[in-house]
Order: sequence, then C-alpha cells, then structure tokens
Amino acid sequence: MTSKTAALPELTRDNCVNETCPWSGKAVSSDSLTYYRGHVVGFCNPGCKDKFEAATEAFDARLEGI
Ligand SMILES: [Zn+2]
Repeated sequence: MTSKTAALPELTRDNCVNETCPWSGKAVSSDSLTYYRGHVVGFCNPGCKDKFEAATEAFDARLEGI
C-alpha cells in the first residue's frame, strides 16, 4: 500500500466550488481554475485567477511567518 497525500480533485468546472467569479460575478471559465486549500476555485478569466493567486500567496507567506 502506498501512502498518498490528500489527492486533489480534478481541475474541472464540475469540481469547482463556485459558479461565478468572485471579482466580477461572471460565470466561471474552464481555463481559469486553480486550487485553494485543496478545493477547485474558478474565475471568469485568467487575469482574475492571477489576482486571486497573488493575494493568497501574500497571505500564505504572512501566515507561515507567524
Ligand atoms: Zn473575473
């Protein structure tokens, strides 16, 4: 038996926890999905995803220093 770390769900819109972009309220696009704390989260375009990733990275970096 191999011990696996928690497997991430597939990066698809079906697994996405939100249906609309938190920035714009527009429908999530299948090319703008990413992971957050093991869940698939989605955005209306890659620019929104990048904005989210930049924000969470900043917070994660701060939390690691505490
Ligand atoms: Zn958006």
